[in-house]
Amino acid sequence: APSIMWFRRDLRLGDHPALLAAAERDSAAVALYVLDERLGDRSGKPRLAFLHACLRALDEQLDGRLLVVRGDPVDVVPRVAAAFGSDSVHVSADAGPYGRERDKAVEAALSDVEFVRTGSPYAVTPGRVTKGDGTPYKVFTPFSRAWAEHGWRKPADTDASTVDWIDPSTKDGGPRRVRIPEGPAVDAALPEAGEHAALAAWEAFRDEKLPDYAKRRDRPDLDGTSRMSAYLRWGCVHPRTLLADLGPGDTTYRAELAWREFYADVLWHRPESARENFNPKFDALRHDTGKAAAARFEAWCAGETGYPIVDAGMRQLLAEGWMHNRVRMITASFLTKDLHVPWWLGARHFMTHLVDGDLASNQHGWQWTAGTGTDAAPYFRVFNPTTQGRKFDPDGAYIRRYVPELRDHDGDVHEPKGASGYHAPIVDHAEERKVALDRYAEL
Ligand code: FAD
Repeated sequence: APSIMWFRRDLRLGDHPALLAAAERDSAAVALYVLDERLGDRSGKPRLAFLHACLRALDEQLDGRLLVVRGDPVDVVPRVAAAFGSDSVHVSADAGPYGRERDKAVEAALSDVEFVRTGSPYAVTPGRVTKGDGTPYKVFTPFSRAWAEHGWRKPADTDASTVDWIDPSTKDGGPRRVRIPEGPAVDAALPEAGEHAALAAWEAFRDEKLPDYAKRRDRPDLDGTSRMSAYLRWGCVHPRTLLADLGPGDTTYRAELAWREFYADVLWHRPESARENFNPKFDALRHDTGKAAAARFEAWCAGETGYPIVDAGMRQLLAEGWMHNRVRMITASFLTKDLHVPWWLGARHFMTHLVDGDLASNQHGWQWTAGTGTDAAPYFRVFNPTTQGRKFDPDGAYIRRYVPELRDHDGDVHEPKGASGYHAPIVDHAEERKVALDRYAEL
């Protein structure tokens, strides 16, 4: 009986342990993707558009044999298994709160059909790295040490051409096959989708930019990072493929991948931390509410705060569905500490627009910046947006790229007094910093 390879966050054919497991069970397999409306509703348009493009790329790699069905996986997956007479459904394990619940429900609904989890979107499956006493790590550095010690296997040698992918159009009965949606239409310029694009982008980065990554990664003007995040988000590439290419000197890049694994681990142990303060001590923190706060939040979303590096970042997010990491930290700090808006509102705006939007990395990146999360990042470290801009975008090239009002500004682009058409600062950083520190001190 053919096995079912149910793709989710693993939209590729190479280095794919679950696919290998499916092929070992039977040389024939059905490639399935379920368009789950509940997930679609939560994804912002850019992420959804990118997902659909990745599905088209995967379908092309499979010679048009990807079976795409719309509906609730709890209904769809058992019906597909029944239609093809399969006795096993293969997946890469999902570590997120929704995915774990969904998989439990699908597994129960499959009854006699085996539900086989092999591998995950991480080098080390979340939950595997624990302290000696079995409790989870709450701080990054010891986690990353234990994670590296735990280690991971070499990339799986999957050769999808050995799999006999069943042409789903030859099958009558079962749930209705749908076409992969074209849209939604988005304004953001999306990266090229799919496994081939991911590998090409990785190889270009590895050969040209990886040697200088540690030196250049914090500079938003230089484009020195790998831009792998969207590909990792959808599993167009497995992190092990990237790790296998790193040399002993590439410690900084390895550490960034470790952050991704750390946050997935945190979310696995504490699913509620996607919505709540990781550290409940901060539940009592006072936030600004009311009309004025709402207007400031709107200004932040639109990139009209009058702080150039903040505005450049927020506009990059809208233009590209991506923002440089340094600027994610600066804009998040500005929202939480200068505008006193709770982190989860900013996190939601990011999730609506990021192509790489990932619950674990996003919510915990926000909590890290807000000082409510894991890690020793002290809450009293408040980023000064002006000095951050001067330090990490020294010539203002990044600001000029995304803030056209400042493109031809002759004076100081980091403190553009009287630049025509450009907003005056909506708040005074020095004052708001004091307000933030006082409120944190109350706790
Ligand atoms: P590179 O610098 O090339 O890093 C390589 C890879 O390492 C990244 O693709 C990513 O998978 C991982 N990585 C790097 N930094 C981090 C980090 N701080 N935390 C977790 N993983 C990291 N990353 C997401 O993938 N999705 C998100 O939704 C997301 N939201 C964030 C929100 C905030 C407030 C902050 C501060 C960070 C967020 N990050 C998120 C982390 C980081 O900003 C992005 O992963 C990175 O900018 C992606 O660009 P890159 O692939 O060029 O990164």
